[in-house]
Amino acid sequence: MNTTVVKFGGTSLASAAQIRKAAAIIKANPSRRFVVASAPGKRDSADTKVTDLLYRCYDLASGGKDFTPALDQIRARFAEIIEELGVEFDLDKELQIIRSHLENDPQRDYMASRGEYLNSRILAKFLGFTFLDAAAMVCFFPNGRFDANRTDALLRAELAKTEYAVVPGFYGASDDGRIHTFSRGGSDVTGSLVACAADASLYENWTDVSGMLFTDPRIVKNPHTISVITYRELRELSYMGATVLHEDAVFPVRKAGIPINIRNTNRPEDNGTMIVPDLPADMQKRIVTGIAGRKGFTSVLVEKSMMSTEVGFGAKIMGIFAANNTPFEHCPTGIDTISVIVNSAQFREKKEAILQQIRHELQPEYICVEGGLAMIAIVGHGLVYAKGSAARVFGTLAKAGINVRMIDQGSSEMNIIVGVAEEDYEAAIQSLYEEFC
Ligand code: ADP
Ligand code: ASP
Ligand code: MG
Repeated sequence: MNTTVVKFGGTSLASAAQIRKAAAIIKANPSRRFVVASAPGKRDSADTKVTDLLYRCYDLASGGKDFTPALDQIRARFAEIIEELGVEFDLDKELQIIRSHLENDPQRDYMASRGEYLNSRILAKFLGFTFLDAAAMVCFFPNGRFDANRTDALLRAELAKTEYAVVPGFYGASDDGRIHTFSRGGSDVTGSLVACAADASLYENWTDVSGMLFTDPRIVKNPHTISVITYRELRELSYMGATVLHEDAVFPVRKAGIPINIRNTNRPEDNGTMIVPDLPADMQKRIVTGIAGRKGFTSVLVEKSMMSTEVGFGAKIMGIFAANNTPFEHCPTGIDTISVIVNSAQFREKKEAILQQIRHELQPEYICVEGGLAMIAIVGHGLVYAKGSAARVFGTLAKAGINVRMIDQGSSEMNIIVGVAEEDYEAAIQSLYEEFC
């Protein structure tokens, strides 16, 4: 029998009613054998995700403050789910364990992981599936780095013995028993790892939108669903801000050649988006597949005459950012200039040290630091073939009265990246959408 791995996100499991929808989807097809579950998310836009409540408990406990009201909110969320589903579950006992951790030795990742842990145990009970704890199978090194090889071996062995199971997303553990999490939204990554280890023929990622949309639905009203997209396009879009799928969820399944299908738990009749290695022939004419972006970048422009003839200049500047533990996002270069685009929050802490080192070691004539940048990626394999695409991007932005502060054509040639002022971000996305959708 084919195996499908299904991952349900926070909104898909936010309440008993949502869990019933997820269960109906799971039970509708016996190949949906392995379920990866998130913590309960928002029930409406004013609600708080259980993961955020858990982080709040940790912050209060580690600051020596009273965490009981926050823990009671978590209790209420789960109590309602348990009661409405009619499952037997000793919530008091579980919350007592969490409380004693908070009182004795609060650990941030441990706390964050409890939403997935409790929700998966409840879901497993409701479905009649085995609960497999990710702490025993998803491995991290003690320094918090993910251990892919051991994880695959352990997951493989465990899944081979199990017919139907629920695995909590987002976390794992190191050999010393300490819990570690992926970054936010990381249940998508667990889903991808489970799909590989189960040799699944399909990884279904169930969320609250009918697939990957052409652009961010919070900015543009009703963008169309991208019916088929390649792993590479998706990776570019998710990295650049299309948060529907965690950017690290693409690698494992891509390597194993397992397609991902993004689906809507509230509209299971929609086909969603298929993510595949190559586009079918009839779709190869498409120029732009999607547009994504994010705010929160800073550009560090360094100018020095004859920079282009100074061997190793680029390596030296990159070395300075690396030595200060500040990864760079993009690095467009001119003949005598180089711009390093960094995440503003990461750069802020290291700014003075980095600038001082650049001045001292590279002796530039000019350095300019500009914050408040938003980066937008226009992504599509068709950009390689379509003449004049960059001109269309700039023409569109110019017509909308938006100044382009930075340009970078990705070396894969499947994306054009532009930097605009943060306050122009929404208008830029809207105008590019109208031009390319
Ligand atoms: P889940 O909790 O199911 O993992 P997420 O909140 O992580 O769901 O991701 C789904 C959300 O991603 C959507 O509700 C939507 O607001 C947002 N999003 C941003 N960009 C896009 C896009 N291009 N396509 C679809 N959704 C997007
Ligand atoms: N619950 C975690 C978060 O809110 C992980 C996830 O939902 O994927 O980030
Ligand atoms: Mg998500």
